[in-house]
Amino acid sequence: MAYSVPRKFPTTVVGSYPKIPPAMDLIKKRRAGEISEEEFRKLIKEPIREAVRDQIEAGIDIISDGEQSREDMVVYFAERVEGYRPGDWVRIFDNVYFRKPVIVGDLKWVRQMIVEDWVYATSISQGRPVKGIITGPYTMMEWSFDLRYGRREELIIELARIIRREVEELVKAGARYIQVDEPALSTRPWREEAELLKDALEVIFKGLGDVKRIVHICYGRLEKIIPYILEYPVDQFDLELKNSNFRLLPYLKEYGYDKELGFGVVDVHTLQVETVEEIKGYIDKLMKMDFIPPEKVYVDPDCGLKRLPREVAKAKMKNLAEAARIAREEW
Ligand SMILES: [Zn+2]
Repeated sequence: MAYSVPRKFPTTVVGSYPKIPPAMDLIKKRRAGEISEEEFRKLIKEPIREAVRDQIEAGIDIISDGEQSREDMVVYFAERVEGYRPGDWVRIFDNVYFRKPVIVGDLKWVRQMIVEDWVYATSISQGRPVKGIITGPYTMMEWSFDLRYGRREELIIELARIIRREVEELVKAGARYIQVDEPALSTRPWREEAELLKDALEVIFKGLGDVKRIVHICYGRLEKIIPYILEYPVDQFDLELKNSNFRLLPYLKEYGYDKELGFGVVDVHTLQVETVEEIKGYIDKLMKMDFIPPEKVYVDPDCGLKRLPREVAKAKMKNLAEAARIAREEW
């Protein structure tokens, strides 16, 4: 089924969606060994179908599988890569805790991790492209304990090789939008850190063929590293902007931003649903700054929607899609 993504202001999502019952139950049962991975894969299709349907109904052009299988963006992958073992509970920020996984041996890709969900979402997307979304090597490194490698330069490249392998599987399956999520980068916004990730992204994206290469980064003092990240071998930065009141935009303009922009226009940390008029106003504001054409602007939420109630998440998507539709007629 052909679906044509609008040329101007296509809409998309960062990736995660509220867990739709029984996704959380299934994750717990799988962890407790009460159901097999095979049963899990079969039963998780229903929540994925619901997440896909919500995005289609809201009018999103480039969708995700809602990450219904993933209880966490790091542990999910650590449990599927050889060389990791589960860790103890640690606090990462505020009241957010997770089981920081431990690297104890040589890291090795052993099996597909996210391809099956991507294939399923694509089969029910009514032709809409589905992003292949994977946690990036910097975030995997920062949110793991390393007892094996020691040198971060080496560790991040090893992680990048594993991600590259999974990305190759996605591309083989037909994915044309590949997004690497790097929320940890903004927690250490320094040149050396940004350059570590640059080398790793080369490993992930080099010679991948005809795919859109995207990096998602959110929160923190990103303006300090913009000149360095603009060197990344990617087509698009997907950025949180609404939550920080679009503070980054003047910096992007100042540094001669020439890539595509995933333009975060709704805050995922507030229950208040931004109105169509408000979102349209943010798009207008960006256009009036006159440094990026509408063809390079992908309208989306700041970050994953997973912590919002489902109806709020859906309402935010719906309004941003409507705002993009109106903007298309004007710009
Ligand atoms: Zn994010």
